[in-house]
Amino acid sequence: MREIKLFINGEFRSSSKTFTDHNPANNEVVAIVHLPSDQDIDQAVDAAEAAFYSTEWRNMDVTKRAELLEAISEKIKERRTELTELEVADSGSSLRKAKADVHNAASYFKVLAGQLRKFQFEIKDESASKVGFSHNYKIYAPVGVCAQIIPWNFPLVMAAWKIGPVIASGCTTVLKTAQETPVTASILAEIMREVGLPKGVVNIITGGVHEGEHLLKNPKIKKVAFTGSTEVGKKIMQGAAKNLQRVSLELGGKSANIVLDDADLSIAVDGALYAFLYHSGQACDSGTRLFVEEKIYSEFKEALIKRMGDVKVGIPTDANTGYGPVMNEKQFNRIMNYINISKKEGAKLLFGGERQSGGEFDKGFYIKPTLFEITPDHTIFNEEIFGPVLGMTKVKDENEAIKLANKSVYGLAGAVWSKNPERAKKIARQLETGTVWINEYHLLNPGMPFGGYKQSGLGREMGEEGLKAYLEVKHLWVSDCDERTKKPWFDAIF
Ligand code: NAD
Repeated sequence: MREIKLFINGEFRSSSKTFTDHNPANNEVVAIVHLPSDQDIDQAVDAAEAAFYSTEWRNMDVTKRAELLEAISEKIKERRTELTELEVADSGSSLRKAKADVHNAASYFKVLAGQLRKFQFEIKDESASKVGFSHNYKIYAPVGVCAQIIPWNFPLVMAAWKIGPVIASGCTTVLKTAQETPVTASILAEIMREVGLPKGVVNIITGGVHEGEHLLKNPKIKKVAFTGSTEVGKKIMQGAAKNLQRVSLELGGKSANIVLDDADLSIAVDGALYAFLYHSGQACDSGTRLFVEEKIYSEFKEALIKRMGDVKVGIPTDANTGYGPVMNEKQFNRIMNYINISKKEGAKLLFGGERQSGGEFDKGFYIKPTLFEITPDHTIFNEEIFGPVLGMTKVKDENEAIKLANKSVYGLAGAVWSKNPERAKKIARQLETGTVWINEYHLLNPGMPFGGYKQSGLGREMGEEGLKAYLEVKHLWVSDCDERTKKPWFDAIF
């Protein structure tokens, strides 16, 4: 039986409390997991602080840190089969999604290494500098000890997005995985040890609300990076206000998918399915509100319903599975509750709306792809479900689509489908959301920022913005004037 221990100060440690981690597809035990005590968590923070001030980490140059990131990327690739299998077992990811996740995690570390090599940690501002008076520089320096908390839907990718910029910036961290999915981050810990990351730079623990809260209370933490629900994100921001810790938040979404009357219908239909069914709808950027222009609405609706019948809900290890189970019973109940609310509110159910059951399906929690016709008054127009449920709305024209797309407290992602990229781009610019795809969905580029407007978050991950989120900027003033008579001294302020 696999055992997941705490990773503190470069060592794998046991704790006095353990729990069993289960496979969402069949409820089989995946691992025995060590749950940290408050004291373990404090020790992890102490280790991160000691590492932050250690001369080894402070003096490590950018080239060496970039080499570490590249080495991690290579090791992820070497262990791709094992990581894929574990991600499938631990999180219920389909094989296809897990393969993509492992690839994306490896590629993120590699791309980040390239960005790091080019990043200017010291920039002279010529316009602010004046010969004979001063030279002025911007210097980027690591924020300090971080606390990072991630959810269960993309365990390896989320860990990579958090750990990458910590290493790149010269910060240190205690990362808490979701209690439901602690396995692949632990493999990442093995990898970081193998490539020679100094001890204490990255510490990994797991746990739930109590462990997360205890970690964040520690006054040594200078920055909190959280990915999860908007509800918890708000609490975290309130807590961080006490010591004015830096905060990055990647939160929930209710993303809009807009199909224009000049779209390639068969591509847009598949795009709409992929947008909301990827990982059983348990993706923060899921396209769960579909807006279709009036002119093509009937034709599109008919094609979509027909295509939904082809979607293969299946066990995750089957290579042909489109999507598998939802995470657990709690998630299943939440989704079914939203389905029932929608039925009660009179939203027209066009497909699915029930559990997928029988045989292997009864060992996990599977839900049929579900389509409702909705208006902005329906609950599921406004609230994040995090399951395979889509709400479709007819719109008069693109202006109404933009208006309704922006009618949300969220603003994480979205897409526009059209054969006219300029028309689509014009719409994309008006959407209040952090990512917009045109004739595409879910694909991310590690060199580009990802994050949300409004209640979908604060700050960005990946891209240069993702690195800067772990850096403080310092103004360095160097006097260029050593003759006292030429220097204005105090009279400069009068
Ligand atoms: P969640 O907010 O319940 O939990 C997320 C993490 O926070 C878990 O590790 C959990 O143990 C921890 N946590 C919970 N309460 C806490 C508290 N009071 N203090 C400290 N830590 C606490 O979310 P979830 O159910 O695990 O994940 C689903 C949510 O995550 C969805 O809303 C989804 O949209 C969001 N998400 C966002 C992104 C993004 O990049 N924007 C990515 C993935 C998931």
